[in-house]
Amino acid sequence: MIKRFGILLLVSTILLGSMSAAIRPKNVIFLIGDGMGMAQVYAAMVANGNKLEVERCKHVGYSKTYCANRFVTDSGAGGTALATGVKTNYGMIGMSPDSVAVETILEQSERNGLATGIVVTCAITYVTPATFIAHQHHRSMYEEVAADFLKTDIDVFIGGGRKYFETRKDGRNLIQELKDKQYQIAFDMDEVKKINSGKLAGLIHEDQPPAMPERGDLLSDATMTAINILNKNEKGFFLMVEGSQIDWAGHSNDVEQIIMETLDFDKTVGKVLDFAEKDKTTLVIITADHETGGLTLTDGNINQRKVKTHFSTKSHSGIPVPVFAFGPGAEEFTGFMENIDFKGKIEKLLKLK
Ligand code: MG
Ligand code: ZN
Repeated sequence: MIKRFGILLLVSTILLGSMSAAIRPKNVIFLIGDGMGMAQVYAAMVANGNKLEVERCKHVGYSKTYCANRFVTDSGAGGTALATGVKTNYGMIGMSPDSVAVETILEQSERNGLATGIVVTCAITYVTPATFIAHQHHRSMYEEVAADFLKTDIDVFIGGGRKYFETRKDGRNLIQELKDKQYQIAFDMDEVKKINSGKLAGLIHEDQPPAMPERGDLLSDATMTAINILNKNEKGFFLMVEGSQIDWAGHSNDVEQIIMETLDFDKTVGKVLDFAEKDKTTLVIITADHETGGLTLTDGNINQRKVKTHFSTKSHSGIPVPVFAFGPGAEEFTGFMENIDFKGKIEKLLKLK
């Protein structure tokens, strides 16, 4: 009897041991659809034949997006909350409301020896990417944000915004400074796709990249290039990916464009999930910083892949946004969350100090 109990204990210890080993992710890929509320997701789903890649995530929740001084946030305060775990004032980047710089999850990952990356479909110095790496009083300080990239050792960043590195009021040539820091510089996607190790600065447009469909597969190609490079780091990696222009289509109240941008983002989600499915040590989190347009779907037709829409604003709305998660630790990202909850949860799962 004692012997049998001993064996049972041994078996359950092994089982528990292997379970807890499976629970901890090594890599985190954090995907943000800027301005992507549930109506944007569902409009794209209907247009795509009633299915999306994001449906592969079985852990789903909501994130409350209000910021420190307003009910309806902007991407500065919204991104700062996701990146730093602090609710700040409208328009601020990587700082608390009293203007104290707060470490971001990307900076913390880097400090703990993880490889880090940012891939976006806007200028790399624009609002959402800035909230993961920069600390500025206002979101419009693009040249200051570009200089903040040089203060870090981020391994891979790909987006637009070349001019903020090259043609600056302070006369600094940040492209040269990046080269001095051993970065490989790529000015178009063909060059980006050739690079598979080391450090990469992909500045593939002067300012903002074009909208879909002109942009092509920039987001999915750049994301997979980044994953391929970052995954070579034994300690793991943190990568932030943004579908930046869902928000811009929302500001224009243009549902066709919202659908194209959301499907572009979802295609990237699919490729990331393919990687995570094989890798088994990667946690994938998909959410938004806020909703844009106050979009409602007043009617539609599943077979005809059509939706009828009503927009209530040309700006953002205050409604919670969806959260989708996949992989080890995904169960942590369910139910109603505050947008400041992500950082602490990721930090805990990656055992960052
Ligand atoms: Mg953004
Ligand atoms: Zn916006």
